[in-house]
Amino acid sequence: MDSLRSSLQSALDRIKTAASLDDKTLGESLKQVEKALLMADVSVDLVAQLSKNVREKSRSAEPPPGYTRKDVVLRAIYEELVSLLGGVSTQRFVPDRSKLNKVMLVGVEGSGKTTTAAKLALHYKNMGYKVGLVSLDNMRPAAVEQLSQLAKKVGVPFFGDPSLEPKKGFERAIEAFSGYGLNLILIDTAGRHRDEEGLMNEIEEISRFVKPDHVFLVLDANLGQSASLQAQAFASKTKVGSVVVTKLDGTGKGGGALSGVAKLNVPISFVGVGEGIEDLEDFNARSFVNRLLGMGDLGALMEAMKSAEEGERESLERVASGKMTLDDMLAQLRAFRRFGSLSKVLESLPIGASQLRAVSKEAGEEKIKKWEAMILSMNKAEKEDPSIIDGSRIRRIARGSGTRPEEVKELLRQYESMKKALKAMRRDKRWLGLLGASS
Ligand code: GDP
Ligand code: MG
Repeated sequence: MDSLRSSLQSALDRIKTAASLDDKTLGESLKQVEKALLMADVSVDLVAQLSKNVREKSRSAEPPPGYTRKDVVLRAIYEELVSLLGGVSTQRFVPDRSKLNKVMLVGVEGSGKTTTAAKLALHYKNMGYKVGLVSLDNMRPAAVEQLSQLAKKVGVPFFGDPSLEPKKGFERAIEAFSGYGLNLILIDTAGRHRDEEGLMNEIEEISRFVKPDHVFLVLDANLGQSASLQAQAFASKTKVGSVVVTKLDGTGKGGGALSGVAKLNVPISFVGVGEGIEDLEDFNARSFVNRLLGMGDLGALMEAMKSAEEGERESLERVASGKMTLDDMLAQLRAFRRFGSLSKVLESLPIGASQLRAVSKEAGEEKIKKWEAMILSMNKAEKEDPSIIDGSRIRRIARGSGTRPEEVKELLRQYESMKKALKAMRRDKRWLGLLGASS
């Protein structure tokens, strides 16, 4: 049972369905998120950090136009879970092409270790590595035969002899491979022994004589709590470098794997998405969290919020490049007004900021609404190049928007002065960053 998943979902549902997100509701929902993560063995420190970050974002981040505080909170939780999982780009193991890399796979029987060894062999072979596969699983002769067959499919050399102890088996493999000029060997190990202690001792021993450059821990996406126990047990015997979560094509959502990963503080490098040797994908924290939370609609919300912000950013970029339209001016004034509380940051901005502040102070909500009406009465050419707006156009715009010609003239004056101010701030990275910080 994937209890992490269901308790996270119910915490998020609570936020989604709350009539209004006051501090009390937010606090209670966050407590629930914290509890779910703690029960999934995510460390207390990480949970506290996540919760703190979400609180801060919910206080400081302004929702983009058309979104609410609720959306900001949901998004913050989502983003924090993504970063808990190692972010979008994890530092991944890259075998050094100039030497023989020895890579081990560990995990309990049935987790998908042998299959994953073959998938990884194909993956690295396709990247141009000279790969060999070794089975040191002498507990089950069938396991050796299984990898031997898979190696044929991948088209890489294989060594495995169930009659040999792992140490001997490994030495023979190195001998057998000597003529191949390999730079990567993937070593499959046993996942079951007479008892757990026996298995763990064997992993420790193999690790000692192989001296692996990297160890993949293979975890089944169907695991719940026990994933973190498994992860810990293996990690106490060998230096686990990253995790491969298998069977994500099935009903398992990987909640347990998240616990395992959080416990070890190592990245997930790949995910298995089927039984075939090609069914291996690079890990992507975003799609993993989407799946974990089952949030098709929340995922869509993230996308929509992002594009609203991008619209704002594009407009800012037009402004920064000196091509501000009247629509951009309005968008920027609104954005600028939202940052009123960040006046310290604004003080530190160079030339231009004070003029801009003057315009934005001048332009209260009432005035902005009037300007909006005027702009609605303009045609595209006028909005894009207000310098063509002469006396007769001014009269037409005033009539169309129910304002006075003097007011239209004032808008045009403000536009010119704002354009000048913004031009002066052109390419100021800090200024661009300031609006970027609204995300
Ligand atoms: P091992 O005991 O850890 O070596 O596990 P195996 O590699 O023998 O795999 C156990 C079972 O899981 C086999 O039936 C595999 O085909 C299956 N399996 C492994 N990885 C995946 C996966 O990503 N998706 C699915 N659907 N099945 C998998
Ligand atoms: Mg196996």
